[in-house]
Amino acid sequence: MTQPLFLVGARGCGKTTVGQALARTLGYAFVDTDSFLLTHTGKSVAEIVAEEGWEGFRARESDALQRVTAPATVVATGGGMVLADSNRQFMQENGITIWLHAPAQVLASRLNASPEEDQRPTLTGKGVTDEIVDVLAAREGLYRQVARHIVDATCPPDAVVEAILSALQMARA
Ligand code: ADP
Ligand code: MG
Repeated sequence: MTQPLFLVGARGCGKTTVGQALARTLGYAFVDTDSFLLTHTGKSVAEIVAEEGWEGFRARESDALQRVTAPATVVATGGGMVLADSNRQFMQENGITIWLHAPAQVLASRLNASPEEDQRPTLTGKGVTDEIVDVLAAREGLYRQVARHIVDATCPPDAVVEAILSALQMARA
């Protein structure tokens, strides 16, 4: 099986960290849609949002999703990728989608430990924890709907990788 693997979930759930480890373990390529946008536009998410608004960013993000999708590739998606019906449909039709599930308190403590403000603009201007609670409430149904597998992302990255391999019934390369 070399279908693309899409990792979805809120900011801080570990899409980049776990995705890189998963790709290494499987001998797959790894791409991150946010990094792809940074490389191809020369702008961070924050800069694109400042210049083109969230609508402009979302359009570029959908395009990035389609362009990075390839066989034997782990794709870490932006936290809001699931908002567009077309992105959810694309992921469902073109690969296997995995939701890295973690409660708001875990996400908040990770983001507070490494905020990376520039790369991750707040959506609402509220504090990190309040915002995560709101964003999760709005998106959990979409993550659940798009995901073929849901894994517990609160354990250490290696254990999350093992949980994904076991859900996919895939062995290490
Ligand atoms: P995402 O790409 O989903 O926003 P990251 O991979 O950037 O998340 O992880 C956000 C922060 O949480 C980083 O500091 C990372 O080291 C940490 N982290 C990610 N996954 C785990 C995990 N399973 N256990 C502990 N810390 C983690
Ligand atoms: Mg990331």
